[in-house]
Amino acid sequence: MVVVMSPDATDEDVAHVVEKVEAVGGEAFVSKGVVRTIIGLVGDLESFHHLNLRTLRGVADVHRISDPYKLVSRQHHAGRSTVWVGQPGAQVPIGPDTFTFLAGPCAVETAEQTLEAALMAKAAGATILRGGAYKPRTSPYAFQGLGVAGLEILADVRAATGLPIVTEVVDARDVPIVAEHADMLQIGTRNMANFGLLQAAGDAGKPVLLKRGMTATIEEWLMAAEYIAQRGNLDVVLCERGIRTFEPATRNTLDISAVPVVQATSHLPIIVDPSHAAGRKDLVVPLSRAAIAVGADGIIVDVHPEPEVALCDGPQALLGNDLRDLATAVRKLPPVVGRVDAGERIRTV
Ligand code: PEP
Ligand code: MN
Repeated sequence: MVVVMSPDATDEDVAHVVEKVEAVGGEAFVSKGVVRTIIGLVGDLESFHHLNLRTLRGVADVHRISDPYKLVSRQHHAGRSTVWVGQPGAQVPIGPDTFTFLAGPCAVETAEQTLEAALMAKAAGATILRGGAYKPRTSPYAFQGLGVAGLEILADVRAATGLPIVTEVVDARDVPIVAEHADMLQIGTRNMANFGLLQAAGDAGKPVLLKRGMTATIEEWLMAAEYIAQRGNLDVVLCERGIRTFEPATRNTLDISAVPVVQATSHLPIIVDPSHAAGRKDLVVPLSRAAIAVGADGIIVDVHPEPEVALCDGPQALLGNDLRDLATAVRKLPPVVGRVDAGERIRTV
């Protein structure tokens, strides 16, 4: 932590800050400039917070140097992490060396629709199936998902296709049943700051896909990840899914810069959801290409066999030529940026 004194601070003001810091067991290193004096603090951050240093006479500003998150920060972790998704013997990596393609329907609607979407996803090169059994809908009158019946469909489709499944959990009370069926728990944008749910997911013993809150800063998002990590679960994958801005042309604005920013500050893998970012299928392929080029560790995309009758997010679901174009991008582009398809690195032990 660094304390910046104001230009008119006196020697007594500086001495007072030093005294306060030393009184809580910290060390203070004073550096006198021509105009300003700055004081570097070494010691326990928590005890410095209690000093309310900003309120002391002559103090102009106080800056934190280390990240407020610890377990998910790169400052305390050598290299970037890989998270493994799936049952032992067939685990798919999401991490810095590979590119992972996750796809599936927004919502599980029927067994046939889910299987068909899963086969489309697999044929396009996806190695993890997405699909919501519990849907966090903006309207309470909209389709809320099939619940446990949807989880059972997902488990059947996993058995039929071999694809591990990621599915959303919206209520802490449902975490055990979702964890029993799924290979990875998804926390959606609307629940990113639901701290009880984050903790429950952290306790569940399964990897977690944590989407960025639509109005969350990157720091708030990483603090949410810290809630999960703090429960002893470091298997967290972040997902940039667009943030709310003034621009109405797309449903959200994909913050592509979040990918390298997160990779510079956190060791956790980060993937991109171009479907929920754009809300329109014509943008999914270009945004997926952008995600690969910027260095994302994967993408998660909505596909549906009949988007026109989808109960959720039909306008953004891919099929046909769009899905073929996506499959081509996912096959050709990751090697250009030094990534191997995750399907080639499945852990079989
Ligand atoms: C989803 O992936 O199904 C979903 C609801 O996404 P988000 O939380 O990003 O809106
Ligand atoms: Mn959706």
